[in-house]
Amino acid sequence: MKIDYDKYFLQQGCPVCNSSNNKILYKNIIHTCHEKAGVQISNADAPSDVLICEDCGHHYLSMTVKDEIINYYYNAVNSEYYDTVKDKPFDRRAEDTKKFANLIANECRGSKTVLEIGSGMGYLLNQLNLKGFDCYGVEPSKFASAYSRDMFGLNVITELLTPATFPNKKFDIVIMSDVVEHVSNINALFSIAQEYLVDGGKIVILTGNTDSLYAKFCGRKWLYYFSWEHVSFFNKKSIQHLFKAHSLKLDFFTKTQHSGTLAKNLFIIGYTFFSMLRNFFGIRKENYYYMAFDHFIAIGKK
Ligand SMILES: [Zn+2]
Repeated sequence: MKIDYDKYFLQQGCPVCNSSNNKILYKNIIHTCHEKAGVQISNADAPSDVLICEDCGHHYLSMTVKDEIINYYYNAVNSEYYDTVKDKPFDRRAEDTKKFANLIANECRGSKTVLEIGSGMGYLLNQLNLKGFDCYGVEPSKFASAYSRDMFGLNVITELLTPATFPNKKFDIVIMSDVVEHVSNINALFSIAQEYLVDGGKIVILTGNTDSLYAKFCGRKWLYYFSWEHVSFFNKKSIQHLFKAHSLKLDFFTKTQHSGTLAKNLFIIGYTFFSMLRNFFGIRKENYYYMAFDHFIAIGKK
C-alpha cells in the first residue's frame, strides 16, 4: 500500500527545544495500528524511530501522527486506554490517585484552585475535590468527561484547552498527568498552561521516565513506545529544559511508578525478565514488555 505520509504524519525537530541535532536510539519501533482514527497503516508502511535530542536529551518519535487526526481520535473515538476501563471503570487507578492527590496537597500547601488538563475519568480531581480544592478540568474524550461529571459531579469541559476555555480565570495548580507524552506541540500547550497559572503557582507533571532502569532494560520494547498516541518521552533533563523555556523553576522531582502497588511493580519486573528469556529462546515473540517504576513527577513553580 502506498501511504500519503503528508496527510497523516508530521516530521519535526525536538518537540522540547526545536533542535534538529539528534541520533537514532531505536530504529523502526513496533506500533499499534491506528485503525480507529482512520489511519490504516501497518508498521511496515510507516517506520518510525525513537530519536534522542543531542541538545536537551529529550526522546521523541521521528514521525508522529498529525494533531488534527489524533485530536479527532481523542474526541470521537476515545483513547485506547478508555477501551480498557469502559467495562471496569473502578480499576486500580482510582486508588493510585489518592496517593498522588496526597503528594500534590503536600507539595502545594496554601493552594486552593486546581486545573487538570486531560482530567480523564476524573479520579484525581475527585480526590482533590474531597480534600477541599476548587477543581476544574478539561478532557477531550466525551466518554471520560461525561463519566467524571456524572459520577463525581466535577466541573469538566469536554474540549482541548485553549486560552478561551476559562476566560479571566487563573489557578494555583495546573496538573498534566499522563498528558505531555501525547502532545506533539508541547511548547504551545505549556504557553497556554503557564498563562492560566497565578504568580507563584505550580504545574504538576506525571509522565514516563526514559532515564528509568525499566525503560532502559526494555529498550525498544518498552510498552511506552508501543502506542502511536505517545510521541514524546521525557526525563529529568528534558522536563527541566521545558520548564525553563516557560519561566518555571523545578520545585520538586521524584521517580515513581505509573500505577499499582510496589509488589505489583516488582512482579512486573520479574515477569519481564521471564518474557525476555522466552523471547531469547524463541518460545514466544513478545512485541513489547510492560511498565514498572518508570515514571516521574515533576513540579515547576512560576
Ligand atoms: Zn531537544
